[in-house]
Amino acid sequence: MPLYQEQTIKVHNSLTGKKETFIPINEGHIGMYVCGPTVYSNVHLGNCRTFMSFDMIFRYFRHLGYKVRYVRNITDAGHLVDDAEDGEDKIAKKARLEQLEPMEVVQRYTVDFHNILEKFNFLPPSIEPTATGHIIEQIEIIKDILQKGYAYEVNGSVYFDVVKFNETNEYGKLSGRKLEDMIANTRELTAQDDKKSPQDFALWKKAEPEHIMRWPSPWGDGFPGWHLECTAMSTKYLGETFDIHGGGMDLKFPHHECEIAQAEASNGKSPVKYWMHANMLTLNGKKMAKSTGNSILPGEIFSGENDILSKPFSPAMVRFFMMQAHYTSILDISNDALLASEKGFNKLMDSIKSINSLPIGSKSDFDVPTWKHSCYDAMNDDFNTPILIAKLFDAVKHINLIKEGSETITKEDKEILFDTMKSFVFDVLGLEDKQSSNADLEKLSGVVELLIQLRKEARENKDFATSDKIRDQLSELGIQLKDGKEGTTYSL
Ligand SMILES: [Zn+2]
Repeated sequence: MPLYQEQTIKVHNSLTGKKETFIPINEGHIGMYVCGPTVYSNVHLGNCRTFMSFDMIFRYFRHLGYKVRYVRNITDAGHLVDDAEDGEDKIAKKARLEQLEPMEVVQRYTVDFHNILEKFNFLPPSIEPTATGHIIEQIEIIKDILQKGYAYEVNGSVYFDVVKFNETNEYGKLSGRKLEDMIANTRELTAQDDKKSPQDFALWKKAEPEHIMRWPSPWGDGFPGWHLECTAMSTKYLGETFDIHGGGMDLKFPHHECEIAQAEASNGKSPVKYWMHANMLTLNGKKMAKSTGNSILPGEIFSGENDILSKPFSPAMVRFFMMQAHYTSILDISNDALLASEKGFNKLMDSIKSINSLPIGSKSDFDVPTWKHSCYDAMNDDFNTPILIAKLFDAVKHINLIKEGSETITKEDKEILFDTMKSFVFDVLGLEDKQSSNADLEKLSGVVELLIQLRKEARENKDFATSDKIRDQLSELGIQLKDGKEGTTYSL
């Protein structure tokens, strides 16, 4: 019997604002769609957190024995600068600035995205479709929406008629907005605007002569609107109504609201049973932004090459740090928070390694079956990873007591303990370090700290030959020392 038959999962559904019992449309099968990255720059750490939350959810469903079809797309066309309706395509803009083919930009950043996700030990999605690979499907949906009267064509562009749609459907139900309020709060359209109402959004945009990413269509050369690709790809691979649609909180409006409108206008069905949104990541208490310098790339955390950090952190450790917060809560990342988290991570990993060598007793002082149950309860309650981690540390406490001889455990319980710890830590939380073992990184860190100390002593004794030798030879090995007010830090 698959594990899921014994579990009842509750999911926070953004559409109803309630925690609901999760019942898949087809028993034993789950269809899940998550909006992927727009590949015009290196993947943002905040985006990694969103994708990691859904990777954890995907892993838990698989652990329970569900057959999951997980679709996460690559946006390689149609996403305009500032998420605006007018303006340049993000990928075309980058291509122009760097004098590359748009598909060179797409390739470069898709590779970067996959590399970073692999370091974080993500499972690949079942299907990773691209917007440019589904232009025909997008054109078919536009034809359908036009035919049903929820869209109109002006000068080679096609717009979704939000006012018309709202007469029979509810535009704004996901983000809790009312169309009347939206209309009252927006500027009047000018004579140059093609749209009937400011809330209308583009399904197809006419390509100006300078626009390089363009495809032929019944309305002339152009390109699809950003929201349409997700409707086309989710419908194609998961059906008209599927179980879970996920994404970052910032995509709720307008992106996901528009997806609902497109699907309902085209096939009359609500596309998604459970909408799930992951919250954002802040850095030192503030929103991350490249423009203010309050920003960090995943690669910089792994190498330590950012002034915000005192040392490098392994991808598995950063993953552990992210799993310590619930996916719907804002998480703040800082050097101190990472250092504190690292201590816990090492303790957890050491503890798992020591389970096999625990002595066997005739009775268990620790109720292992009840503890195992509580781990599932934590995950069943809307994937509550911080509670799960607290439960794992309950076990760490008992493992230490058994090691000291203050408690005992039976052979049977020891096996359950080991299997459960392994399942949750490696299979569900995904805390396996594919790149470098955390223990090795810790040893290296200890050696570098020792050399920094010896160099400091050499300088205090005015032995600059030795201090320079340490710095230069570390540099040759790719370890850079940085002297600052707070002492010397290093990066790999
Ligand atoms: Zn999307």
